[in-house]
Amino acid sequence: MELRLYDTLTKEKRVFTPIDPSNVRMYVCGPTVYDFAHIGNARPVIVFDVLFRLLRHLYGVDHVTYVRNITDVDDKINDRAARDFPGLPLNEAIRKVTEKTADQFQADVAALGCLPPTHQPRATEFVTPRADGRSDMVTLIKQLIARGHAYEAGGEVLFDVQSMPDYGALSGRRLEEQKAGARVAVDAHKRNPADFVLWKLSSENEPGWDSPWGRGRPGWHIECSAMSAAYLGGPDGKDVFDIHGGGLDLIFPHHENEIAQSRCAHGTPTMANYWMHNGFLQVEGEKMSKSLDNFFTINELLNTEKFGGRKWPGEVLRLAMLKTHYRQPIDWTVQGLQEAEKMLDRWYDAIGDVEAGEMSAEVLDALGDDMNTPKAIVELHRLAHPAAAGLAKAGLTRAGQKPKPRMLKASANILGLLKSTRSEWLARPGIESGVDRDAVESFIRARAEARARKDFKESDRIRDELAAMGVVLKDGKDADGKPVTTWEIAR
Ligand code: AMP
Ligand code: ZN
Repeated sequence: MELRLYDTLTKEKRVFTPIDPSNVRMYVCGPTVYDFAHIGNARPVIVFDVLFRLLRHLYGVDHVTYVRNITDVDDKINDRAARDFPGLPLNEAIRKVTEKTADQFQADVAALGCLPPTHQPRATEFVTPRADGRSDMVTLIKQLIARGHAYEAGGEVLFDVQSMPDYGALSGRRLEEQKAGARVAVDAHKRNPADFVLWKLSSENEPGWDSPWGRGRPGWHIECSAMSAAYLGGPDGKDVFDIHGGGLDLIFPHHENEIAQSRCAHGTPTMANYWMHNGFLQVEGEKMSKSLDNFFTINELLNTEKFGGRKWPGEVLRLAMLKTHYRQPIDWTVQGLQEAEKMLDRWYDAIGDVEAGEMSAEVLDALGDDMNTPKAIVELHRLAHPAAAGLAKAGLTRAGQKPKPRMLKASANILGLLKSTRSEWLARPGIESGVDRDAVESFIRARAEARARKDFKESDRIRDELAAMGVVLKDGKDADGKPVTTWEIAR
């Protein structure tokens, strides 16, 4: 199969050709660890996990290096530490905040079925020169100054954007446009208002490292330039790697500035060959925000009943995320999660306890087309239920096709789905054991038949009987507008 990826920098979908097929290298910007990760933060983690799995499939498990950093130096972290641990010295308080938050993040994304990246460097370990000689921020900044791309002013070291003729190429922002909106008073020490901080001095009670420019701390962008170079240098000694990813809010200024720093420090024409950005997630049609009361952390979705009145299995959250193409905006809804769960129900019914077999060429082709997961999911559905009415109507299936459970399992696995057995799925959180699911499903079928012949007395009786078993029914419509009934255990 051929893999084609959309590159934000050149604005085109291109065949993916790794610099070194024996070591395909990808960097994704990771979390700033001061608070629980929200469900929007889960999107890049899941999307690039699918790409990681696909690359491992194509080039071999041992031939892909995936780096996702942990940003554990940031002024938001300092503020949170001072707020939550007022009695402790700041550095200790910071360690408490970052360790707890980073551990929570690892637990959250593991529950979403994400593989651990090859390396997860923490920014604080890459500030000053290292014993192992891997790239660090202070050395990078020194290189930028030596090459005439950075200068010291007003207690900061700044990147000189005018020293780079094509600064702004990723975001398409020209320097002249940026000047107009800048606030001159704040930026008086800058040569150009768009110059950005590489290093800033710390006050006595702020975290800081000794450097040639005094005790201070790095700017955010330089962290990723150092940590990507630390693990992703090429076989030719050039610091260019294959794929750099993150959410599209990072295009400007973060990725633009990473490119500027890395290219100017290393003297390379590019930082990474493919720049990939996931679209944003909103909740029930609105931007997620704490003030709108529609802000949900991964942990809340998994372990509390805040969203839709129940806990959600990680696999449901994962499938709900992958039903939308990664570059499109996604609307995160209770209904979307219910549909994903229903889909998994059917797939697990179809695979039973079979072993994974061969992978479907159609699923791989869909993923090879800039990770078209919605298309891959339709193909998975076809493997599970070739006779499903909606699929036949859409011309996707033909009469006489049989389910292919082994192929379904293998092909879903590359999306990080259907990793469990059917019995593990049936015992998932949110569904209490002790209810015979097959019995419930047959009651629901009988009720649908009763309703179809307008025997509402009988359909009500069945509903009451299920209620007595602790099962609540919800009537809704599927994507084709056909009535469907879902169920859950009453609480
Ligand atoms: P942050 O901790 O805000 O830097 O975000 C970590 C990652 O999550 C980055 O790749 C962001 O682009 C991404 N991200 C943040 N909010 C959302 C959202 N609502 N939808 C999709 N991705 C997001
Ligand atoms: Zn970054």
